[in-house]
Amino acid sequence: FDMFVLAFIERLFRPTYRKDDFVLGKKLGEGAFGVVYKGSLANKKSSSKEGDFVLKKATEYGAVEIWMNERVRRACANSCAAFKYGFLETSSKKGAEYWLIWQFEGEATLYDLMQSKDFPYNVETMILGKVQDLPKGLERENRIIQTIMRQLLFALDGLHSTGIVHRDIKPQNVIFSEGSRTFKIIDLGAAADLRVGINYIPKEFLLDPRYAAPEQYIMSTQTPSAPSAPVATALSPVLWQMNLPDRFDIYSAGLIFLQMAFPGLRSDNSLIQFNRQLKRCDYDLVAWRKTAEPRASAELRRGFELLDLDGGIGWELLTSMVRYKARQRISAKTALAYPYFDKEGLLALSLMQ
Ligand code: ADP
Ligand code: MG
Repeated sequence: FDMFVLAFIERLFRPTYRKDDFVLGKKLGEGAFGVVYKGSLANKKSSSKEGDFVLKKATEYGAVEIWMNERVRRACANSCAAFKYGFLETSSKKGAEYWLIWQFEGEATLYDLMQSKDFPYNVETMILGKVQDLPKGLERENRIIQTIMRQLLFALDGLHSTGIVHRDIKPQNVIFSEGSRTFKIIDLGAAADLRVGINYIPKEFLLDPRYAAPEQYIMSTQTPSAPSAPVATALSPVLWQMNLPDRFDIYSAGLIFLQMAFPGLRSDNSLIQFNRQLKRCDYDLVAWRKTAEPRASAELRRGFELLDLDGGIGWELLTSMVRYKARQRISAKTALAYPYFDKEGLLALSLMQ
């Protein structure tokens, strides 16, 4: 069977929707390129079975976001929030609007969960589906953080193996899926599909400076310039190898790891301040540690202690992700094979008890 025939048949039998089929609920977010709402089907009978939805009303860039979501649902569905449908709605009053619809995965993003004083224990409860009545401590926190990192890297590996670079990896774009009890990636609004050359980012688009890797463009300037509109231009795997654009996401994921280990770096302001310090150290985490550790607060020292557990394999992973040069950063796949992940994760731990 031809892959396009399969995609066509799948599309034919998938439910299609239009704007009028939904009742919009609470606003979940609003960015420069769209507004996101929680919603449900207007027809109550079917909504009881279908659950809640998330609807994004997007501007012209919505077309690319639909493309990315369609590709993800065929190639690596588990990496991202379940995409239902995307369509263009035109009216004389509002002109052209793109609508994207996903399954409502859950109430909390990793950002929300990290803001709680109870982090990472709140995540443990959500993953295991029950409160663990065990003494709190570094070892246990490390297990939980390890499990979150594994899930995040697993999702990233799926995207990267598909040829997609997300470019906006941050805790706000990582949702806890209550159905599968795992973290999934959302918001492919800035993603690039490098295998077919779809890389539709307006010049004025600002990557989130708090989580962006130091290189500003994911492809080096020597590469023939990326198309400015979604046209198909084949990009060879050789180019992918040369430029390693996926490592942009790895840097961002490394910063998330850092924020999980150090509660003092979880706020926006402290992360911005950290970025300034790291830049002064030429993006060398080891150098940063040398300057920060001698005058570190008890809380900061505790973060280093967590990363130093088991012979420092957490610290080793972190420093393999947050590096100035993209080619020196580890890939998601290689990271998953790192000794840091050798130890049993959360679920295995709970089964043993
Ligand atoms: P943007 O950042 O462009 O406003 P996002 O796609 O990141 O749009 O969505 C905004 C917010 O909506 C997210 O931070 C999250 O809180 C919520 N959200 C998005 N998709 C889902 C989903 N599938 N399930 C539950 N909540 C979601
Ligand atoms: Mg977002």
